[in-house]
Amino acid sequence: MTLRSADFESAVSTNSTTPAVRGASINRVMNFCSSCGARVALRIPDGDHLQRQVCTSCGTIHYENPKLVAGCVPEHDGRILLCRRAIEPRRGFWTIPAGFMENEETLQQAAARECWEEALARVEIGSLCAIVHVLHAHQVHVMFRAILAEPSYGVGVESLEVMLCAAAEIPWPEIAFPSVAFALHKYLEDRAAGTQGLHFKTIDMRLPDR
Ligand SMILES: [Zn+2]
Repeated sequence: MTLRSADFESAVSTNSTTPAVRGASINRVMNFCSSCGARVALRIPDGDHLQRQVCTSCGTIHYENPKLVAGCVPEHDGRILLCRRAIEPRRGFWTIPAGFMENEETLQQAAARECWEEALARVEIGSLCAIVHVLHAHQVHVMFRAILAEPSYGVGVESLEVMLCAAAEIPWPEIAFPSVAFALHKYLEDRAAGTQGLHFKTIDMRLPDR
């Protein structure tokens, strides 16, 4: 699955926690229990320290944890594969292939699958390049290095355009997300230095009153 609206890091959360319970924010849109259909209520379960959505009937605690996004910087012959997004958020902006991890796949499989779905390109996933904690979106973005297995690519249904782009031609002002820009910058810096480092970044656009 490619990143869709209300997903990914540009979807700034408007959730907030009560002043007494700072920390992880909660999905206040949830009204009903997915197990039994009864109302849920915000409570701090026994032994916990954060508010959770707790079912008022069956007692199920609906934990919310960050989602993993896997992506890669695909290279062929010195150039980088970029996709122009056909979907919101950030439609029309450029990104590396990336999207939400599915159950029962590895991070590398997820990164390769996203590259196939968005750019019809087969890649060999390489070393880990960047881990970006996107706190406000409750996501962790994991970006690998990758090599195109063959110089073949196309335009997936969620892309408007796909290109192999020289480093000097990357359209930086039109890069869709800060995590993508970070991964690209670090990828290129490392490549120029002949290294393959692992780089961390934290992005936090939570509202200041929290
Ligand atoms: Zn329930």
